[in-house]
Amino acid sequence: MSSKISGTADVAVIGAGCAGIAAAYYLVKDQQIRNVVLIDPRDPMSLTSAQSGENYRNWWPHPIMTAFTEHGISLLEQIDLESGGRLNMTRGGYSLVTRRSTPEDLIHDLYRGYEGTAAAVRIRHSASSDYRPPCRTPWSGAPDGVDVLLNQDLIRKTFPSYANDVATVIHIRRAGSISAQQLGQFMLEEILGNGARLIRSEVVRISAHSPFTLELASANGATEIRADRVVNAAGPFVRDVGAMLGEDLPVKCVYQQKIAFQDREGAIPRDMPFTIDLDGQTLAWSDEDRDLLASDPSARHLVKPMNGGIHCRPDGNADGTWIKLGWAYNETATDPRQEDPLDPQFPDTVLRGASRLNPALAAYIGRLPRGAHHYGGYYTMTEENWPLIGKMKTDGAFIAGALSGFGSMAACSTGALCAAWVAGKSVPEYARSLCSDRYADQALMTRLAVLSKGRL
Ligand SMILES: Cc1cc2nc3c(=O)[nH]c(=O)nc-3n(C[C@H](O)[C@H](O)[C@H](O)COP(=O)(O)OP(=O)(O)OC[C@H]3O[C@@H](n4cnc5c(N)ncnc54)[C@H](O)[C@@H]3O)c2cc1C
Repeated sequence: MSSKISGTADVAVIGAGCAGIAAAYYLVKDQQIRNVVLIDPRDPMSLTSAQSGENYRNWWPHPIMTAFTEHGISLLEQIDLESGGRLNMTRGGYSLVTRRSTPEDLIHDLYRGYEGTAAAVRIRHSASSDYRPPCRTPWSGAPDGVDVLLNQDLIRKTFPSYANDVATVIHIRRAGSISAQQLGQFMLEEILGNGARLIRSEVVRISAHSPFTLELASANGATEIRADRVVNAAGPFVRDVGAMLGEDLPVKCVYQQKIAFQDREGAIPRDMPFTIDLDGQTLAWSDEDRDLLASDPSARHLVKPMNGGIHCRPDGNADGTWIKLGWAYNETATDPRQEDPLDPQFPDTVLRGASRLNPALAAYIGRLPRGAHHYGGYYTMTEENWPLIGKMKTDGAFIAGALSGFGSMAACSTGALCAAWVAGKSVPEYARSLCSDRYADQALMTRLAVLSKGRL
């Protein structure tokens, strides 16, 4: 089949998820590059970006990731203000919970993660402190920094749904939720209103050198487009697009799941912040169920000790009734070209795990309300769980990818940094460690190999 040229572009962005849309947005907005095409066969924001839990936080175990997400959150706040509140941004914080009463390692992580920032770590030993309880809206005026609650009375009063054995709550204050779909929609409107184009096709081949010829396939046939520069923002398929340029990108895809349902029992208070149970656990089963699971190789992991990291939050407005639960315990990479590995056991597993912290959730074990939604998507990630944003090896090719479980909160910083790389402008110092240059920094990579990955 012969292809026809459907045009030329200064920059072709491959993928219209939040990373590609944000890269195009900042190419247009910050770098004044107007001849931008965004190429995707799917509806914008409909792949991984549609599965996001839509949470954000500035809490990371390393100051470079803290700087990256701080930048991203500031840009989100800017867009929320500019758009008249379209992002529905809340800032109830993240509540990290443990049964340990002296979690010095976690407090040490806080000081390391926030090193060099203005964020204060406030240790609360007394119930009569000036601690401000979570308040989801308005986000402006909410406290910054972190409150570490070590007082049992203060914890019980502030978080009445938590189990009585919780001994410490780390309340990260610059954290909350956004509407990631609204963010994508807003940026897309801005891009298209400023001369950029959206092409509904799949990129199937790319010539090796700039100016690049991109071969496109769609139901309407094959076409080509020429572009001086390309941005690989193909989400779980960044590796495939990298391979079209003869590159092998160090990323893998790990499927993670969530459930959402109507909390008819009112198990979760509407003002409860996004809560993460940091402690690992072995799920409670009847003897019969345990034997059954242990005899099934695909379910055996459910009777063994499992990682911490179960998360739960009220979804939607204060007067809503839906809640979301997730648990990113899967660590096995799978091929995103295959059917999604949705595990039918997951809703039961996450409910059992989550009811340890919020005991009222146990009412839903085996009785999930009708209309409950079980879904998932890929964390496209590097081994160290840091993104890849910047130049690829091929001259004129760039990447905005490997956004793992932080792509909504970091969409804007990813887009802004990628656009600056494409335009040949300077980037903040921290951004140099977010591109593939970091693999040449042995000291950093050795450090990252032993640090927590901050994955949720
Ligand atoms: C269950 C789950 C929960 C999450 N929760 C959060 C959260 O609470 N907070 C947060 O910040 N992040 C969260 N994330 C992460 C966030 O959703 C992702 O990091 C982000 O959506 C990735 O965006 P992306 O644009 O890189 O990829 P995608 O949204 O997958 O977009 C990639 C696009 O590229 C297109 N594409 C691929 N190949 C080609 C090709 N050859 N030609 C043209 N187009 C192509 C695809 O069609 C797709 O539309 C979560 C992710 C999951 C899976």
